[in-house]
Amino acid sequence: MDFTNFGLHSQLLPLISAAGYSNPTPIQEQAIPHVLAGRDVLGLAQTGTGKTAAFVLPILHRLEAGPRRQVRCLVIAPTRELAAQIEGVFEQFAGPFGLRSCAVYGGVGAKPQLDHFRRGTEIIVACPGRLLDHLQQKSVDLSHVETLVLDEADHMFDMGFLPNIRRIISYLPRQRQTMLFSATMPSEIRHLAMEVLHNPETVEI
Ligand code: AMP
Repeated sequence: MDFTNFGLHSQLLPLISAAGYSNPTPIQEQAIPHVLAGRDVLGLAQTGTGKTAAFVLPILHRLEAGPRRQVRCLVIAPTRELAAQIEGVFEQFAGPFGLRSCAVYGGVGAKPQLDHFRRGTEIIVACPGRLLDHLQQKSVDLSHVETLVLDEADHMFDMGFLPNIRRIISYLPRQRQTMLFSATMPSEIRHLAMEVLHNPETVEI
């Protein structure tokens, strides 16, 4: 199994090689075909398994065709560090498609984030609190989101973020692709998964 077997857009392949990825990791092997097929995914995987590229690569493939200058993919992550890291992976692979991404979190000025929204960004990687501020101030429009990723859902629960996540989801179209990744499955995360995922494929490593 190598990255050419997935049918990913050919322009992604040299970037995958340049990243030093010669073979997909087990989570990538399992998740990429489902994401490409537009399915919802429940992913039981820890950080360090390659789960970021498992969603970033097929999401970029799907976003390549379609409109620009509207937010089409939203990733929610528990910490600034993780949000910045995920956004960096989108940047690493998005170049050939002219897709733009931005990270949205608190503790830094809102102005650069507002500038990104005004210029137009197709991908947002956000922590819940600051994103909700932007939504309440109507400075960002999530009504065109096609794909939602909830990453490290168990950490978001531990940090008390689930009420804000539910509020954020109320701004999204009901018809969308949703992925939820979590290293553990406490009952709160199982409930969230049942609420937000439709007929998901489960991938577990
Ligand atoms: P993650 O679990 O997404 O935080 O990824 C952990 C690390 O694995 C990151 O440094 C990635 O760059 C790296 N990585 C992801 N996919 C692969 C792959 N297929 N081959 C080698 N390294 C990878």
